[in-house]
Amino acid sequence: MIILATDLPPEPYIAPRGICPGCGSQNVRHLVAGPFEDRSEIEDPEWVDWQGILRSCDRECEICGLQWWCERENPSPVRLLSEAGAAFALLPIPELDEHGPAAVDIELLSPDRMVRYLGRTPAPNSIAVLRNFWMKAAEEAHPELTVPTFQDDEAQFSISVVESTDRAVTLEFSIISDPTSDVPSHDGLAFDVARSDLIAAALELAEWTGEDADDEEWDA
Ligand SMILES: [Zn+2]
Repeated sequence: MIILATDLPPEPYIAPRGICPGCGSQNVRHLVAGPFEDRSEIEDPEWVDWQGILRSCDRECEICGLQWWCERENPSPVRLLSEAGAAFALLPIPELDEHGPAAVDIELLSPDRMVRYLGRTPAPNSIAVLRNFWMKAAEEAHPELTVPTFQDDEAQFSISVVESTDRAVTLEFSIISDPTSDVPSHDGLAFDVARSDLIAAALELAEWTGEDADDEEWDA
């Protein structure tokens, strides 16, 4: 038996109303695609506007008029994990400009310690460049020879490919632990990442910048 989605009773609208990233107001309107079913029996919140499928944003502030896309409001952390229990993570601080998160926390994790460097500001376009770096490192036969080191001079960290096998690449992460110090000291970590995990992480990063990774040239 086939049940058509349109035969199911419509779900109540339960998305949290949220906060305007511009002025902090809670008077946020949701501009929602649809409705795709008969909602005449449902009482939607008065701050939900059904807009068909063409929208230029999905949130609008009733107070300051700001418009934005909610799905880009809180991008998820992106982690690279090794089978041995080491990890590198970028944790976005939820405040966006059009190039992705305005700042990130950078986490280095090894089996015996975890360090988090707070509030680093990526250079313009840096997230897109990092995404391309990961994708190339995953795809090229000998990325340790062909893929140049990724370096972000604003956020003060770099990643290079040390060696590779058919299924994994060894990445070396380096970060200046205290950018305000006159004598910069480095913290670092190196570990193996499966090529497939690297591709997955690159695709997750693409969501930060709101770009479709498949449409991009990889030569940033
Ligand atoms: Zn506002």
